[in-house]
Amino acid sequence: TTFAELGVCPELVAGCDAMGWTKPTKIQAEAIPNALQGRDLIALAHTGSGKTAAFALPIMQALLEQRKSFFACVLSPTRELAIQISEQFQALESSIGVVCTVLVGGADRMQQVISLTKRPHIVVGTPGRLLDHLRDTKGFSLKTIKYLVLDEADKLLDMNFETTLNDILEVIPKERKTFLFSATMTKKDQRLGALNRFKAKECKI
Ligand code: AMP
Repeated sequence: TTFAELGVCPELVAGCDAMGWTKPTKIQAEAIPNALQGRDLIALAHTGSGKTAAFALPIMQALLEQRKSFFACVLSPTRELAIQISEQFQALESSIGVVCTVLVGGADRMQQVISLTKRPHIVVGTPGRLLDHLRDTKGFSLKTIKYLVLDEADKLLDMNFETTLNDILEVIPKERKTFLFSATMTKKDQRLGALNRFKAKECKI
């Protein structure tokens, strides 16, 4: 299979070519067509599987059709992963003009406020700092988002994040698409529980 055969549009196929990706990985081949058809996703995928592009490509393709600020939110349990995800969006977008910002703890809060005034399309963040901005940063909300991605969802579902995550979910529209990725939810009932928690419809388990 090629990216084009999965339904990826020419602008983004060009982005994949520029990355030197000759063919989709297994998770990309499974996730991309489903995501492009408007389904929610729950995927078992570890780092190195190409999971970031599996959600980044469908989100950017939807953005090309409907260029809206605060279009997608990606939650990550760690700062490092959030930064990597944002870099992947940036690397793939090359000429499309997708603006992505990272909201993580340990980084300058004022810089993040400034980046939000630029009304990015994609916000990637760790739960704590994201919630801080939702509460304190004037004019910033996730009321318009169409896609919510939970990367390393198993870690996001840890007790540490429980209340923060609940508070975030409360201010995110229910009519969004949800993409849930996890490396370790190998038991089906774990994944079903997570699905329920995020009110996502099942696609691939
Ligand atoms: P990830 O699983 O998203 O952390 O991606 C791991 C690495 O695989 C990243 O460095 C990507 O740039 C790379 N990658 C993603 N998709 C492909 C692909 N289709 N072919 C080759 N490398 C890829």
